[in-house]
Amino acid sequence: MACKECYSEKSRITPILGARECLKNHLQYVCGTCGRCICINKDDKRGLYRWNFPFKGLSLAKLYLRTADYLNKRPCSIYEVVNSKGRKSYKIFANANDLNKYLLKNKGKTCKRVFSVSKYKEYIGTHIKYLAEIEVEEYLKEMKMFHQITSDC
Ligand SMILES: [Zn+2]
Ligand SMILES: [Zn+2]
Repeated sequence: MACKECYSEKSRITPILGARECLKNHLQYVCGTCGRCICINKDDKRGLYRWNFPFKGLSLAKLYLRTADYLNKRPCSIYEVVNSKGRKSYKIFANANDLNKYLLKNKGKTCKRVFSVSKYKEYIGTHIKYLAEIEVEEYLKEMKMFHQITSDC
């Protein structure tokens, strides 16, 4: 079952790439319900978060949707973006305004809304923080353990 707070079924699935670097150096949204860490770091140069970038798949975009919802204090939407060659990607937009700006800048792309949660909620256990070294190691251990369990079945 998906976590009611962060919408993921796998509580140690993120960070997907460069887990140690991300956990060590980037600000994390720590889910108060399942403990999953989601990168909520703002890129200094461009002022963008991970959720601002395109994702290869819908399930991947869903893993970061909570950070968008949390920062905007409302349900954001995942859109399927199709380019002129028919290639699909997935992008999270906070509102219709942002979507329209994107479409104006990216002629030839079409978008279809594919996912959002119905209502925005806050949870008491949520932390936005940099992990301590020991927390990073603990989390990495859990990632390995959880992964072994899921790949066995
Ligand atoms: Zn990160
Ligand atoms: Zn969660």
